Order: sequence, then C-alpha cells, then structure tokens
Amino acid sequence: MNIYLFNTLTKKKEEFKPLDEKVVRIYSCGPTVYKDATIGNMRTNIFQDVLRRVLRYNGYKIKHAMNITDVGHLVSDGDEGEDKMVKSARELKKTPLEIAKHYTELFFTDLKDLNIETPEIICKATDHIEEMCKYVEELVKNGYAYETSTAIYFDISKLDKYPILSNVNLEEQKAGARVEVDKEKKSPYDFALWIKAPKNHLMKWDSPWGLCYPGWHIECSAMGQKYLGEEFDIHTGGIDLIPTHHENEIAQSKGKSGKIPARYWLHGEYLLINGGKMSKSLGNVYLLKDIKEKGYDPIVYKLFCYSCHYRNKLNFTWEGIEATSKSLERLRNSYQTHLKGKEKLNNEETKKINEIEEKFNMAINDDMNMPLALSYTWELAKFEKKSNEIAKMLLKFDSVLGLKIDKILENPKEEIPQEILKLIEERKQARQNKDWEKSDELRDLIKEKGYEIKDTKNGMEILKIS
Ligand code: AMP
Ligand code: ZN
Repeated sequence: MNIYLFNTLTKKKEEFKPLDEKVVRIYSCGPTVYKDATIGNMRTNIFQDVLRRVLRYNGYKIKHAMNITDVGHLVSDGDEGEDKMVKSARELKKTPLEIAKHYTELFFTDLKDLNIETPEIICKATDHIEEMCKYVEELVKNGYAYETSTAIYFDISKLDKYPILSNVNLEEQKAGARVEVDKEKKSPYDFALWIKAPKNHLMKWDSPWGLCYPGWHIECSAMGQKYLGEEFDIHTGGIDLIPTHHENEIAQSKGKSGKIPARYWLHGEYLLINGGKMSKSLGNVYLLKDIKEKGYDPIVYKLFCYSCHYRNKLNFTWEGIEATSKSLERLRNSYQTHLKGKEKLNNEETKKINEIEEKFNMAINDDMNMPLALSYTWELAKFEKKSNEIAKMLLKFDSVLGLKIDKILENPKEEIPQEILKLIEERKQARQNKDWEKSDELRDLIKEKGYEIKDTKNGMEILKIS
C-alpha cells in the first residue's frame, strides 16, 4: 500500500518513495537540553514516533537520528543573546554539562513514559565539534561563508534561492527589520556558522579562527551527513523550525554538497493551551510530570494528541485529558474483553473486520491521519462479537498507536475521587508558591481521606491506603 506524506518543501501531499528500498533514513531535530521539555515539545515527539511506527508497519527498517542540542542555541533564534545552555548554567549555578545531563535524562524519561521509541542514533552536539568545524571550513573554501570580527557567517547571496522551505518574502521583511548587532554582516539574513567566543565564555573550542563555539544550525547539517549521508529520506521537526533552523540547514547543505539534505520535510503543528500560547508569564507551561501528578497514565496524553491531525493546532485542556483518560480505559477494557472472548466470527464478520483493517491502513498511510485511524480502532473495539481474532487485530493496530492497549488496569484513574484530585491540585499550587506549610496540611488532609501522596524523583505518586 502506498504511503502519502505532506512535504513542506513542495507544499503537497506526495507518495513516499525512499532512496533505499528497505531502510528509511530519518533525521529529527531534538531538544535543546537547558530546561524541561513541555507537553508541546512532546507533541512533536509523538508525531515523529507515529511516523516511525507507520513506516515499520509498512515493512520498512528505520535508521533514525536525533540530535541533542547542548551548545550553540542562542536565546534568540537569530544570532543574538547568550547561549541557552550557558544562561541556564549560570542561573542554576551548575556547569553546562550538568545541566545537559539532567535535562537529557528527563527528556528520555518522558519518551519512555509516552511509549515513544528511542531513535537508533542519538547524537550530542558537543561530541561533534570537529565535524562541525570541518563543515564550516568547507563552506568557507566553497565561497559560501565569510569571517567578521565576531563570527563566521553563511553568505545567503551565494545561493540560487533563499528561502526555499518557507514562504517568507525577504524584501518585504527587510523594511521592518531590526537593527543588526553585527554591522559587518553582509545581509541581515546571513546567519552564524561559528562564533568567536568572548573571553569568559563557558563553552569554547580551538579552531582555525581561534576559540569558538558553533552556531545552532551547523550541528544538524554535520551530524545528519555523518550518520545518514549527504541525502536522506525524511527530516522532521516542529513548525517553528521551518523559517529558521531548517531553512538554514538546507542553505548549509547546498553550500557544501549542492544538495538539499532530505527529500521529505515534515513539520508538526503547535500545541496550544486554552487556545493560546504556552508561556511562563501566563503560568500555563505544562510538563508530562504535571499530567502524571494528577494521577493520569501519561499515555492518556498520547491518545489526546491523536484527536487532532499532526498538521493542525491542538488545544490542550484538562477536561480533554479527563475525557481521554476514560476513553483509554474503555479501549483497554475492550481489548481485554475480546482477548477473553470465545465467540467465532462467521465469513461475513471476518470480511467486516478485514475491511476495518484496510481502512485503518489507508488512514495511517494518508499522511498519518490518526483521528481517522482511531475511529476505525473504535469500530473494531466495539465489534459486537467478542473474539480473540479482534484482540489480535487491535494489538496489531497498537503497533502504530503505541497506546499499550494490552496494559492491565491495576489502579484505574476513575477510582480517585474528584474531591481528592481537587486537593492534589491545591497542594500542587501551594508547592509552586513555595507554601510548604499549606502543602503539608493538604497532604495530611488527603491522607485522612484515605490517599497517600509520595513525592518521588519522577514526580508524584498517589496511592490508596488499604
Ligand atoms: P524547543 O525546546 O523550544 O527548542 O523546542 C523543541 C521542539 O519542540 C521544536 O521542534 C519545537 O518546534 C517543538 N515545540 C516547542 N513548543 C511546541 C508546542 N507548543 N507544540 C508543539 N511543538 C512544540
Ligand atoms: Zn536541527
């Protein structure tokens, strides 16, 4: 069966044809490990995981690389401000290495909790300084980069076309452009490949241009090429990466090899919170940990993400999570009922479930239409006859959905009464306000009502006192 994917490069849904018949090579831009990953970040990781699973369901092997940005991503996505890692290290009084280790571990805990497969290759920017430096040297040699007193910049005027991924009109943008910090830049759209480190800069490496650190975009070009070759199949990321990071990755690759590194560019839309942006100032930045602390199975969030196509905006609400939690429980219960079912399907019924399977396959292969795929999963789960055949098929669907449909419910979420959930939320607020006294009072009250709260390093656990 053909697979169709929406390609940001051509702005069309295209039939997917891999360069190599058997192995699909994918590169995903990974996290900048200077802070906790949000549920927004995780939405992007969920869509990337579905992509892997759909390809494997269709018989492909996967070679998937994901980077960990632990240097070079500046506070502004332009070339301004402090390095995010250095800023976080300074604020938390730790070394950048400690910061990176801490947030990388938390990131992988989230992936595990969401049953997201770890890509075959995980590559850290700081482990690839030499490759990046060589890449920059080649760009200079090929005439695509120039040196100023502060950095080595990519010269976009040397390209036949820039931008090619986004629809940005540079001429129109120029009128309202901000004042350039580096007056030696030839164009405001030239971007830093390699930055000369100020005296006390925490992360810097020796190079032909003295002590420097890399720009943000070069790591993905250098590591993508190292692990997947000059040209691979699919490049993924969140939608915000289109006009900045991915545009510049393409520019770098054109300057080095003359090629666009990937054939298909896939981008996931944003997760909104109550219809707006997630931001610290609005106090609505949610982590997977917050969902777990309210007693939900983290997989609920994955199922919640399937309510919307990955290319559409999704609005997060706690009501949505509550409703999805019940759905997940129903789905898992249906699976168990079919698993124990002894009824035999007649020819007509077998034909019917095969048709459902066909429709499920078409939905996932149609640019990962998970809301539609989910509706066929429900049609199957609700099948009147209870049969092991159906359980088998549900499990097959779950190799794409990754919902751990066969998980046996030991402590269903619905057992925790609303009253307790409300007290837990109040305690969370108290802890956020550093009101430890109130937090302890609430813990005691919750205990009196029969529930014990345990604060663990992976978040909070709620246990019913038996
Ligand atoms: P960041 O850590 O902000 O650099 O983001 C890492 C990845 O998560 C990028 O690919 C972003 O596009 C993606 N991302 C950030 N915020 C959201 C959001 N609210 N919804 C979906 N993806 C997001
Ligand atoms: Zn990248």
